[in-house]
Amino acid sequence: MLLVVAETIPCRPQALVVGAGLTGCLAALALARAGWLVVVVDLLKREALVSRQRAYALSQSSLALFQHLELTPALAPHLWGFERLTLRANQGSAQTHFHWNDLSGDAPPPIGWIAEHRPMMSVLLHHLEQNPHITLQLGSSFSPARGSHGWQQGWDLVVAADGHRSLVRQAMGVGCWGWTYDQSCITVHVRLRGVDPTMAWEVFRGEGPLALLPMGKGSTQVVWSTSRARGAALVAGEPQVFSQALAHALPPGVELMTVLNRPQAFPVALGLAQRLHQGNVLFLGEAAHYCHPLGGQGLNLCWRDVSHLYAMGDKVGKGERPVTWLLRTYGRRRAFDTMATLLATDGLLRLFANSWGLLNPLRWMALKLLRHSGPLRSLVLRPMAYGWGPFAMPQGFNHGSANSGRAHPGSDAGGQRGAPVPR
Ligand SMILES: Cc1cc2nc3c(=O)[nH]c(=O)nc-3n(C[C@H](O)[C@H](O)[C@H](O)COP(=O)(O)OP(=O)(O)OC[C@H]3O[C@@H](n4cnc5c(N)ncnc54)[C@H](O)[C@@H]3O)c2cc1C
Repeated sequence: MLLVVAETIPCRPQALVVGAGLTGCLAALALARAGWLVVVVDLLKREALVSRQRAYALSQSSLALFQHLELTPALAPHLWGFERLTLRANQGSAQTHFHWNDLSGDAPPPIGWIAEHRPMMSVLLHHLEQNPHITLQLGSSFSPARGSHGWQQGWDLVVAADGHRSLVRQAMGVGCWGWTYDQSCITVHVRLRGVDPTMAWEVFRGEGPLALLPMGKGSTQVVWSTSRARGAALVAGEPQVFSQALAHALPPGVELMTVLNRPQAFPVALGLAQRLHQGNVLFLGEAAHYCHPLGGQGLNLCWRDVSHLYAMGDKVGKGERPVTWLLRTYGRRRAFDTMATLLATDGLLRLFANSWGLLNPLRWMALKLLRHSGPLRSLVLRPMAYGWGPFAMPQGFNHGSANSGRAHPGSDAGGQRGAPVPR
């Protein structure tokens, strides 16, 4: 096991963050900003951490966190804003568009932003490295034995952000509820003809959902769900066969021009930790919950965890509250948003993304209702943007503030690609 030695600076509470993925990095930056001394460990070295070929759809709640951590100027050049989201059911060709004004904001925000993993991770690691209150230990094996106790005692707080297989969660004896889907998600970057660079798509197909996320400069990230067997065969097979299959899966009017990188397939599952903390250990991000990538909710949910950690960690850092208060309160504040997001994703998948013909009329009616009712679109879109329930974002995380100061989509104004990006 790794021996972690923290500097002893009086007055600052000390935290160990296990996992420097997108959740762990932001959790460490948030705690350091809230007045903590933080040590971050990850099994992977820097290059392995940044080299994931993936892009994420980020929501208003994630952008609000960037703003509060003053990361927006550094991240803005790597974000591409989209103003419309099209939901389409392939059977019967029903579709509906969500527009930014369905969010009922004061100013015209985009609906969301697409961010590529590599530049975003590089920026976050750079900030970790530059922060005098953070010690970063990459390539370090951290392996408490299953059921072992005591290893966490030297810290005021341990944040387990070590992903869905969380060793820390297992070591603390905390189980996970959930199930696996007989689906894999294929991710690949492509060039398409017939798409609007300010519009994202979620297409409900019989074999699973297919998302098209515009990334600027003419490229699009495809997140394509299919059966595990087909997913494995497609990514291992001939590139030509893959291209033909993808071209066939795209919505009418959208044509595949080029495949830009090697497709990868990930098995998908839903899981929820049976407790969100145990002793002085808090489970954050995918160590606490994971879901189907339908609707791009996973990372945004992880980062709402971080927003709450930041808000509560700030009170502890200022000496207004003890760490025990943070540990007790965190689970209560995060339970509803977490469960509602997991259930909504699973429900949508079961209702829309399957080949049961009997559900076709229901799907058609749901899309038609959405198409004609602005308030209904707003009702669906707002939880996706800000989370579920009144406590999804901490008090003081101002929705409206994520909606000001912007360039227009597609512009390169101020060095930004895409945007609008809050300042
Ligand atoms: C195909 C696909 C597409 C997706 N698309 C979207 C999207 O569009 N939008 C969205 O919001 N979300 C999306 N997600 C979900 C998103 O990828 C995850 O929610 C996010 O990556 C979780 O981050 P994390 O930091 O919690 O976990 P991870 O990224 O898994 O990071 C965990 C880290 O912990 C480290 N670690 C593990 N064990 C140890 C140990 N014992 N000691 C030290 N370090 C350890 C690992 O090396 C890793 O770096 C998608 C997921 C998939 C599978």
